[in-house]
Amino acid sequence: MEVEKRLLHLNEQIAKAAHACGRNPEEIRLIAVSKTKPISMVMEAYQYGIRDFGENRVQELVEKQEEAPADIRWHLVGHLQKNKVKYLLDKAELIHSLDSIALAHEIEKRAAAIEKIQNVLIQVNITGETSKFGVSAAELMDFCQTVSQFDHICVKGLMTISVKEYTMEQNRIVFEKLHQQFEEVKKRNFDHFDMQELSMGMTHDFPAAIAAGATMIRVGTAIFGERVYAQ
Ligand SMILES: *Cc1c(COP(=O)(O)O)cnc(C)c1O
Repeated sequence: MEVEKRLLHLNEQIAKAAHACGRNPEEIRLIAVSKTKPISMVMEAYQYGIRDFGENRVQELVEKQEEAPADIRWHLVGHLQKNKVKYLLDKAELIHSLDSIALAHEIEKRAAAIEKIQNVLIQVNITGETSKFGVSAAELMDFCQTVSQFDHICVKGLMTISVKEYTMEQNRIVFEKLHQQFEEVKKRNFDHFDMQELSMGMTHDFPAAIAAGATMIRVGTAIFGERVYAQ
């Protein structure tokens, strides 16, 4: 019940943010980020109608997928270690966090082995914090050029994470910058790129992301409540 109530409220806020900038809320896909939360809560969201779920650890994604209905699309939203790719590739609808050429090599190798084309987003570090993963805006075009050589990777768009402490206006500027990069990449028509998705916005900043053109928002706390991590 708690999850359903939160989802009702969240969908109202999504609709409000979309209408405020003249967008159709249907253009915005909600990825419910269920990391650390039990399968029972995933099922509550599922019963409400959610079919896209995000996890940031491969093992947790694999475990939940085994228990959950088969029509759920699983998204890997956090940093992906190369040695985990082999466990993930037949399970992930979309990897939101391609952030190095070494990782692209590994995805290419594993995807080729199972004759799959893996859909990915390139994570861009717009804010430039050194603690963050992601390709810098300055390196992005060269990065795309290299990734376009891989036959078993299809780049569907870009993803970014803003800064928790930022105001809505600061967040909007970050997300507008990602949108500009998106248009620039799209214009170049790289091989194996099919630019459609802008994955940006979390619980604290999704209205700013919607205003800047997000097609996917990744929301955890607003749906499932605060996460509690063991010390
Ligand atoms: C945890 C996480 C989210 C969801 O964050 P909330 O603040 O709980 O909405 C979104 N994106 C990524 C990459 C995450 O790791």
